[in-house]
Amino acid sequence: MTEPGETTHFGYRDVPLQDKQTLVNDVFHSVASRYDLMNDLMSGGMHRLWKDAMITTLNPPRDDTPFRLLDVAGGTGDISFRAAKAAGNGFHATVCDINSDMLEVGRQRAVQRHLDDKVDFVEGNAEELAFPDKSFDAYTIAFGIRNVPRIDLALKEAYRVLKPGSRFLCLEFSAVDVPGLNKIYDLFSFKVIPEIGRVVTGDADSYQYLVESIRKFPKPYDFAEMISEAGFHRANWQMMSGGIVALHSGRRL
Ligand code: SAM
Repeated sequence: MTEPGETTHFGYRDVPLQDKQTLVNDVFHSVASRYDLMNDLMSGGMHRLWKDAMITTLNPPRDDTPFRLLDVAGGTGDISFRAAKAAGNGFHATVCDINSDMLEVGRQRAVQRHLDDKVDFVEGNAEELAFPDKSFDAYTIAFGIRNVPRIDLALKEAYRVLKPGSRFLCLEFSAVDVPGLNKIYDLFSFKVIPEIGRVVTGDADSYQYLVESIRKFPKPYDFAEMISEAGFHRANWQMMSGGIVALHSGRRL
């Protein structure tokens, strides 16, 4: 339940909690058709390496062992496609995202890649998943959780739908901790990324939001605490690329 007057942040703006999701949805409706191209341009292709590292940690079975992945805020399906390629015949992924435009791009990509029998796409909210308790062998969320208004609810839902013994993995932008790199990173984030967004998607504001939302996301230690509070054990994280990105994990016992 949202308390009357409760606020949160949308980038650097304070907004009523109930308005954040609509604003986030506008961002991804606006950029959906160019989302994958923008990821390559903004990260210089690095997002591919970060996502591959997530799949290495996920380590889906290479044989016929049944394995069901839930990829929340999965957008155009990148994580699920990578996992499907790494996995054996028992693998199946469900991409769950709140944005129909992102999902539609994902569905088309699945057909083009002949992965539509391995990956399906479901519209839904991370805060209120329409899946039964203990129904998945792993839960991934990549560059998604900072967009969710009530992160604590999303984490509780992740815990609920995971089978005992299975893994929660979250890839998210983090806090650069290398002296010198932080200045270059700030300059690139605030000057270059919104400009690339303007040229490629005609929408600089959406990319301004994306870089601001990264700065507002909890620091790794605090986010690990939130993961523990949701019930997960062994909440941990691994920094990548000087802290640009962190891979968080937790296990449901
Ligand atoms: N995981 C994909 C990737 O790594 O390429 C997409 C990440 S994209 C930056 C963030 C996604 O989060 C968008 O597709 C957006 O629609 C989705 N999203 C935002 N709020 C959500 C929510 N409450 N529930 C589910 N998805 C949400």
